[in-house]
Amino acid sequence: MEGTMRAWYVTEPGKMEMREVPIPQIGPKDILFKVSYAAVCGSDLHAFDYGMAIQHYPIILGHEFTGYVVEVGSEVKDIPVGLRFMGTNIQWCGECDDCKSGNVFNCPDVTKNGLGFGVDGVFAEYCVLHNAMLNISVYPLPDNINDMEGATCEPMCVGAGLADALDVQDGDHVVVYGAGIIGQSIVQAIKARNKCEVAIVNRSTFRLELAKESGADYVISPTADKPAIDSLREIWGTAEYPYHYGKDSEACNVDIAVECTGNPGIAAECFHVVRKGGKISLVASYTDDARAPLAPADIYFKGPKLVDGLCGNFGKSVQLMSEGKFKTTHLITQVFPLEQLPEAIAAAKKTKNSCKVCVKVDPTAPDYPYNKQD
Ligand SMILES: [Zn+2]
Ligand SMILES: [Zn+2]
Repeated sequence: MEGTMRAWYVTEPGKMEMREVPIPQIGPKDILFKVSYAAVCGSDLHAFDYGMAIQHYPIILGHEFTGYVVEVGSEVKDIPVGLRFMGTNIQWCGECDDCKSGNVFNCPDVTKNGLGFGVDGVFAEYCVLHNAMLNISVYPLPDNINDMEGATCEPMCVGAGLADALDVQDGDHVVVYGAGIIGQSIVQAIKARNKCEVAIVNRSTFRLELAKESGADYVISPTADKPAIDSLREIWGTAEYPYHYGKDSEACNVDIAVECTGNPGIAAECFHVVRKGGKISLVASYTDDARAPLAPADIYFKGPKLVDGLCGNFGKSVQLMSEGKFKTTHLITQVFPLEQLPEAIAAAKKTKNSCKVCVKVDPTAPDYPYNKQD
């Protein structure tokens, strides 16, 4: 496609500038799409601040979006121009053992060209999805999901995939640490899937209020005097298990603990609160040098099961949102036009009164109601 577009380029960690550049060209397997709405991810903040997962500079960040297909490559047969969709950039190598056995999502290359990390992302008016495949990297959006909500299907896919991966059972006691959109997606997905009780832990009382709307049964704001573990014991009691030494190693009656804060101390706490044989999943961005003060006794005596936190399910996320089981309007707290991306990033860092920050990339896109905060 001819013409130019506005795009935010990150030129080095902590620096970005808006440029007017030619609309990118596509290859035979690619699609070009116009970005309607995008959303700021926690990983965008890490990528911007210190280059987490960034493959090269300059780069356009952003991977959460609703887009409209405007051009398809000559080999793309099943994706029509005009399609409204959410999706991601996936390029597996086709050569490694995982690819050959059909396990393509375990290919080491799969996210090397991740949107907004390896290839240019969606904080631009147009964007290319390489190697586009319907229902693998391109998910059509049903009419009852608006463009702004569509941009939240990507983060919500974490909960959609994790609830199944955790194999939650009716009657389970689940604690989720962190009430950002990932934590909220896990609460919503578990409550949609099972009759069980979910507690969520966060210091921000604002986010805890949002979590109640997401369906959390208990909200816990820990303090120095009253750590979350004390509240969890009050709610569900303690779980005795053989061979432990004294009260400190008494677990809570927690079947599943999920860590979505990125705080290594909380990762260790998950091992401490689960019952014997409980399940733990870590679902956050940790820096490479982060270390958790793990009590080996929590592992040796309780034998918890670790569940891979990198298990999102895009298709299911779109489906749950279309069915009204995923709700994100209350989680969207700020919306900025594309030219105010730096303000959007700053707002996303102020977790006291924000949850999901969206970017209205296309100025002609409609406005939608959301949970507007200053
Ligand atoms: Zn994301
Ligand atoms: Zn491969």
